[in-house]
Amino acid sequence: MALKATVRGIAVALAGLGALAAALLPAPAAADPLAKDVFGAQRLPAATKPAAHGFYSKGCFSGGVAIAADGPNWQAMRLSRNRRWGHPDMIALIERLSREAAKDGWPGLLVGDISQPRGGPMLSGHASHQLGLDADIWFVPMPTQGRLPAARRETMEFVSMLKPNSLRVDDRKWTPAHAAVLKRAASYGNVERILVHPGIKKKLCDTVTGDRSWLRKVRPFWGHDSHFHVRIGCPAGSPGCKGQEAAPKGEGCDASLAWWFTEEPWRPAKGPQKPRARDVMRLSALPAACRAVLDAPAPASEAAVTVGGGAVVAASGVAPVGSASAASAFAPTPERAIPLPFPRPGD
Ligand SMILES: [Zn+2]
Repeated sequence: MALKATVRGIAVALAGLGALAAALLPAPAAADPLAKDVFGAQRLPAATKPAAHGFYSKGCFSGGVAIAADGPNWQAMRLSRNRRWGHPDMIALIERLSREAAKDGWPGLLVGDISQPRGGPMLSGHASHQLGLDADIWFVPMPTQGRLPAARRETMEFVSMLKPNSLRVDDRKWTPAHAAVLKRAASYGNVERILVHPGIKKKLCDTVTGDRSWLRKVRPFWGHDSHFHVRIGCPAGSPGCKGQEAAPKGEGCDASLAWWFTEEPWRPAKGPQKPRARDVMRLSALPAACRAVLDAPAPASEAAVTVGGGAVVAASGVAPVGSASAASAFAPTPERAIPLPFPRPGD
């Protein structure tokens, strides 16, 4: 019958179209991969103008530079992770902090994770650290005798500043130099927040004398008993960078700190665990600029974009370390606050 033939014809045509569409369109997973997979696979930064795109826990950055594995006053840890990358402002700040903290009695920094070469979510660890504007610094100073071998930098255990099974600082570990390095970091205009364990915040509240205004930037948070987390504000030249809310006024040695010493913040979550945001975040969830960051060319070599250790940086707008403008090229950004990452960070 004519009608039957027509229907069959349409069906065949549709099947053909379906096959054609399947051939032309990539599979959905490939078109919109998990952001952590594509950003976690990057070995080198995007060799374009430095800019942060998106938010600390949902974004990426271009024009990244690495801090050298070794500098006069720092040693980078866990080198195999390839997370020594940051926005040039962040890297300059670490170099400056290492130098100035040495005068405060902190001989050098053990530098923990900063960001992946092009930022973005990570395969493991942090919820934030995606814009090259966050850095973790160990609460243990760099050894003054010699350099840690690379293997030791992988395995050296984190040292908690707390007494075992306690929210309180262990006074055998805590020193005036610990407070001094935090104060120095907080003194920089573009540092917006420094995250520490509530017990460490309490220690500062109880012991800091004289100028206490810098305590405002030191915020209590889960984890952060073996390292502190330095966050800078959106840098100049990053219109797509989403800032934080303003930090609450005052020293923060008040009821907001007392809350951490109640049961509530430590109560296990009820019900089924939601997956971590970074584990389900697709590339399409990031700012559109992050696709361009992925597509951008890489620099000629890692050395060409590594700061410190004698190398000179070739990335645009980055002054070599030691030059007058290296750490102070940009004006302080307005105070903004850190939102609570979801879910609670495990590190
Ligand atoms: Zn951190």
